[in-house]
Amino acid sequence: MKDQLNRYLFDNIHVRGELVQAHQAYQDIIANHNYPVEVQHLLGELLVATSMLTALLKFEGDIAVQLQGEGPMPLAVVNGNDQQQLRGVARVVGEITTSDLTELFNNKGYMVITITPKQGERYQGIVALDKPTLSECLESYFMQSEQLKTHFWLRVDDQHAAGIMLQALPSDEDQAQASADDYSHLHQLTATIKDQELFELDATDILNRLYHQEEVRVFEPQSLSYVCTCSRDRTEGAIISIGREEAESILSEQGHIEMNCDYCNSSYRFSASDVAKLFNDPQQNDDNIH
Ligand SMILES: [Zn+2]
Repeated sequence: MKDQLNRYLFDNIHVRGELVQAHQAYQDIIANHNYPVEVQHLLGELLVATSMLTALLKFEGDIAVQLQGEGPMPLAVVNGNDQQQLRGVARVVGEITTSDLTELFNNKGYMVITITPKQGERYQGIVALDKPTLSECLESYFMQSEQLKTHFWLRVDDQHAAGIMLQALPSDEDQAQASADDYSHLHQLTATIKDQELFELDATDILNRLYHQEEVRVFEPQSLSYVCTCSRDRTEGAIISIGREEAESILSEQGHIEMNCDYCNSSYRFSASDVAKLFNDPQQNDDNIH
């Protein structure tokens, strides 16, 4: 099954939906990290939610959705863009004994959603992590920031990460806002989805199964993939930015410089002569310039 985002609308009810299946991207994000199972599952939910937010918040550019606070996991973040290329990482510093967000962050956690559009200004939304689940925190974010009734069903196990979102659209010239009854009808239909169905059925089958009596308009699906943006080139840039003196002091202590990507765990190793080349003629190493 392909990792993808499906967006859909209902013809007669002013509500939109999104269905995300991100099984391979989820496996890629948790690979090579030895995360506790609670952290794996949270990253899976965050991955699915971030994919949904790229479509909900409509931008061209980058998004970062970051959970932060105090406790054994001070940070979990998923980065993505409007092309649905995503990566993520969590920092674990103590024993994890709960997946309840209020307990995990000692009631002091918050979620920061940062959008960096290709054009225009960066903006941020902040949500208190004052509810046990990511779904509930996101729901209260959309209620508070946009007064839009929204529901998230985020489902994760050791192999799969998937989810569905429903949102009542604001009224416009053509259509009034969905009535509470209409919205709750669609909500009830959507809530009948079983984890196994979300994990194993194709998107088309899921949407048919849930909404076969409704008129649903499904947009072209968008592929979703795990992409880490680290590279040897970028790492060279980081070494140049710490400066020659600092780089040489690391070399004199360790004989080489080794830099690790927190996201994918790739490591980049630079010998003394690699580093000398960087500082003698940085241009020479940049193929893009020619
Ligand atoms: Zn990387």
